[in-house]
Amino acid sequence: MKNTKWHERAAALTPDGRAFINGQRVEALSGATFECLSPIDGRVLAAVARCYQTDVNVAVDAARQAFDDKRWAGMSPGDRKRTLIAFADLVLYYGDELALLETLDMGKPIKNSLSMDVPAAANCIRWYGEAIDKIYDEIAPTADNTLALITREPVGVVAAIVPWNYPLLMAAWKIAPALAAGNSVILKPSEKSPLSALRLAEIALEAGIPAGVFNVVPGYGGEAGCALATHMDVDCIGFTGSTAVGKKIMEYAGQSNLKRAWTELGGKSPNIVCADCPDLDAAVHAALGGLYYNQGESCNAPSRLFVEASIKEQFLEKALSIISEFEPGDPLDEATVMGAIVDHVQMNTILGYIESGKQEGAQLLAGGARTRVSSGGYYVTPTLFNKVNQSMKIAREEIFGPVLSVFEFTDLDDVIREANATPYGLQAGIWTANINKAHHAARSLRVGTVHVNQYAEDDITVPFGGYKQSGNGRDKSLHAFDKYTELKTTWIKLG
Ligand code: NAD
Repeated sequence: MKNTKWHERAAALTPDGRAFINGQRVEALSGATFECLSPIDGRVLAAVARCYQTDVNVAVDAARQAFDDKRWAGMSPGDRKRTLIAFADLVLYYGDELALLETLDMGKPIKNSLSMDVPAAANCIRWYGEAIDKIYDEIAPTADNTLALITREPVGVVAAIVPWNYPLLMAAWKIAPALAAGNSVILKPSEKSPLSALRLAEIALEAGIPAGVFNVVPGYGGEAGCALATHMDVDCIGFTGSTAVGKKIMEYAGQSNLKRAWTELGGKSPNIVCADCPDLDAAVHAALGGLYYNQGESCNAPSRLFVEASIKEQFLEKALSIISEFEPGDPLDEATVMGAIVDHVQMNTILGYIESGKQEGAQLLAGGARTRVSSGGYYVTPTLFNKVNQSMKIAREEIFGPVLSVFEFTDLDDVIREANATPYGLQAGIWTANINKAHHAARSLRVGTVHVNQYAEDDITVPFGGYKQSGNGRDKSLHAFDKYTELKTTWIKLG
């Protein structure tokens, strides 16, 4: 195995798995921990605090106290802005360490952690910091002898529950707008990748975010997660994760204090390539690159590829000629494009889907196997199924792994119907040189984001979220403030 500088740094790193509550690292009150393993080679990275209801209660009390005494919400927007910008700067300053934690904990290539996850998280925090002193309140058009002010106020105590696929970035998408708006936050990272979120909270304190304002309670979903979502003193929950758990979150909110519940959930995104696609090579690269990025563990992965019948053979030939570029490698090697699957459970789920695709008659053209077994980690080859139809499990369910399903179509309206025939509605792609077809598809696809002649554009300035069972909220952009603020009307009678 090649030994890189990242192996040396990884060997020297001793991640702290303790919770972060009220400005301090603390053990779980019960003393319980769980093992955090690296999917790269199966080694134990840290013993992580296993938080239960009692720990969550302490974190919520700290967050409530910080909110009520206005140590953060009471700061001027300009001061909150300066603090958040300092926080973003420190995220970059500690960028190598955060990137390493992200790669070791979750298995993604170090190149991606360095070039995407860390800078994107820092940019998100900076962007919301920059935004907060540029948002004005309103005065309603009422009679001369009255004044009606419409002001935005923080919701109060916000809980954020996030998944394991982009641990740092998903945390940033939640905490940055919530903190910028003046809320106190309790973050629960996934039990599969909690380390970077814990470090993030320490960095926030170093940047000047007061103790109690940003807390992190690691633990299992049914324990720490459920305790947060059902807590009577949490005002709002921002959840990113699976649709199945998203439904529970909505129930918990209804059964407890009717807290505001925002969900960003799963996807099964269609990518439609028409025969008049302006650049077939670009379409092939985007189809494979989009799906295999992050080992296929992206909510918006274009996992259903619809190719017009007349170009399908040509498309597949090109796809098969480049698919080896995505062969998994050592995530700590900067040349690696695809890394390890987050854990053996997820790897077995993916292999199970591959088996079902074969059983149900899809044609396996590439991949379909575990690889790099001797590393002790969890790796799956880039997999491509042809001749997939809607009745197959691999066509209907979110796999969350490097498995691309190819369908064939002849009529645009038929394929749009098929693309929409899913409970999900996160993203979609359409490739055509005809602006009328592109516009018709973009209007007809029931998804939160449509990509035309690309599938990679993204920016903090645009909303991210889904239709249907892909969720009810929007992360990113100024729209995210809607989730973490209340609108207040104040009527004033004038003389
Ligand atoms: P998951 O739903 O299993 O877990 C997400 C989080 O919820 C974790 O922190 C988990 O501990 C917690 N959780 C689990 N059960 C809970 C419960 N009963 N109460 C409270 N919290 C609970 O999802 P995952 O496997 O971590 O992530 C993969 C999913 O996330 C995929 O479906 C993916 O599409 C989705 N995702 C969506 C977006 C988006 O923006 N729409 C982004 C990233 C990931």
